[in-house]
Amino acid sequence: MIIYDSNLKIFSSSLLNDSRYFSGFGTKFLGDGRKLENILNFFTSNNLSYKKMVIPEQIHSVNIEVFESKSKENLEKISETDGVITKEKGVVLTVVTADCSPLVFGDKTNGIVGISHQGWRGSVKRMAQKMLDRMIKIGASIETIKVAIGPSIGECCYDVDEDRYYEFREEFDGYSAKIFHLRGGRRHLNLALLNYLLLVEKGVKKENIDYFPFCTKCDKERFFSFRRGKKTEQYGEMFSFILKT
Ligand SMILES: [Zn+2]
Repeated sequence: MIIYDSNLKIFSSSLLNDSRYFSGFGTKFLGDGRKLENILNFFTSNNLSYKKMVIPEQIHSVNIEVFESKSKENLEKISETDGVITKEKGVVLTVVTADCSPLVFGDKTNGIVGISHQGWRGSVKRMAQKMLDRMIKIGASIETIKVAIGPSIGECCYDVDEDRYYEFREEFDGYSAKIFHLRGGRRHLNLALLNYLLLVEKGVKKENIDYFPFCTKCDKERFFSFRRGKKTEQYGEMFSFILKT
């Protein structure tokens, strides 16, 4: 179930959060997640303690890092990575998005958490499944992995050009009728649904997936949107995170 915390101004999944696991999808109210001080401020102003924060330099790749602390610094940046996984306690994994899908993963039975960022590039290359593979490789089980698919651009607003449509069709022939719909003569892609189907295809139980029914472009009160912002205003990005305490 998706829950909104009006004090913290984050959405979270009840599948993931409990006394030992804390994750969330930030809203516009927390400021632009590309500015590190906004993420740090969220944790300090709410007295949320952690040992280390991990910031990946996202490049729309399917590069994944299994994070292990290399220093005592409370901040580590990872270059050219769009997915991070860890077994370590006290580590906050983060990504930023504005229309792309943020995915938060947790296998609480085996103590493994992860986070990834995927727009169309990462999704067409099956980033969600690559995250599952890496988690399983270090000891997670598909039976106990839970995933929350965060606020993304909705099918309502995500029209793609024909070239991109054919690229997806080639990779996901069986899904095309589900993930694409024609609206006003344009092909619209349901990015969150595609990521949901990728998770299910790999064996994640449906009851272990939470899915946000929002569109970041339509909901301008709560979310930044690249597509909305690029023409009309300065846009920001929301940060998402998971922490195993
Ligand atoms: Zn929309």
